[in-house]
Amino acid sequence: MTNNRTELSELGEFGLIERIKSKFQTVNSTTLKGIGDDAAMLDAGDNAFLVSTDMLLEGIHFDLSYMPLQHLGYKAVAVNVSDIAAMNGTPEQIVLGLAISNRFSLEAIDAFFEGVQAACKNYNVDLVGGDTSSSAAGLVIAITVLGRVAHDRAVKRSGAKANDIICVTGDLGAAYLGLQVLEREKQVFLSNPDMQPDLEKYEYLVGRQLKPEARMDIVHELRDKNCLPTSMIDISDGLASELFHLSKNSNLGVKIFEDKVPIDHATFETAIEFKLDPITCALHGGEDYELLFTINPADYDKLKNHPDIHFIGHMHNDPTQHVLVTKQQTAVPLQAQGWNHF
Ligand code: ADP
Ligand code: MG
Repeated sequence: MTNNRTELSELGEFGLIERIKSKFQTVNSTTLKGIGDDAAMLDAGDNAFLVSTDMLLEGIHFDLSYMPLQHLGYKAVAVNVSDIAAMNGTPEQIVLGLAISNRFSLEAIDAFFEGVQAACKNYNVDLVGGDTSSSAAGLVIAITVLGRVAHDRAVKRSGAKANDIICVTGDLGAAYLGLQVLEREKQVFLSNPDMQPDLEKYEYLVGRQLKPEARMDIVHELRDKNCLPTSMIDISDGLASELFHLSKNSNLGVKIFEDKVPIDHATFETAIEFKLDPITCALHGGEDYELLFTINPADYDKLKNHPDIHFIGHMHNDPTQHVLVTKQQTAVPLQAQGWNHF
């Protein structure tokens, strides 16, 4: 017997996923795309079915001392829908697994489902099933979303070409700073329960953390403008990490410009307050749930006046070069760190 023991932290989350992927070959011709994109693609005649799962665990992904259950219900659906958006698809159904401890009252679970309902209504999806169990410890939410996309409208992580323009929606880093604000207020409250949190100044950031939206609006607008991205991913782990996914899957390098990365002024000011570099928050802060995609330069005119789409750089032929051009015009290597739950 060997005593070999490898810590999961040596592989990291992505290394572990690669390892799982390497052990399974797909055998059904209906499996069009298996492990390795925002959603799996299954052949359904004229369309591809899209399937994706995201879990939220108490103590890992959320803290109920500042996450209202209603928001949690909404967020659990939104983060799943975001993966369908990232395939350029339309979500249609969700199934919801829930493990609940006896700490929770019926009223608490009702509040959670009010959030789920609001999200289902907003994204036009049906809750069609799930599973319910008791839990020895915290709350566990596992949602699987099903969606659909026409074969010729599906957008994977792998389709980018050299010189394609890298686009990002909304602004970045706000959800991460929202979390820093909530964590700080929690510590203040724990040390002195008479202190009431002063969150007004941070309303935007806290809202980005507690109430993220999937960018289905962008998916619809891209279709209306007859613009088909060449590759796409949603930003759950941070811009840099997602750029590496596009780069790896498309076998290309990336070059982005610091002054083009969209950062809200509230994010900027709060980063400074926390003695953090705003661009670091934008590159590595997670949970923005914005879309990162590439377009053929010929499509630039279709999007150039869009107020919520930003052009941050381009893909290039050398897959080993991932470059950030700073405001001082210095090219520095882009680091992928993102979140690592191990
Ligand atoms: P996302 O951030 O878009 O949700 P992930 O990084 O969680 O994507 O997952 C990347 C890919 O790995 C997806 O195709 C996902 O389905 C797959 N994956 C993640 N965990 C597992 C697992 N335990 N077993 C099989 N596939 C997995
Ligand atoms: Mg994703």
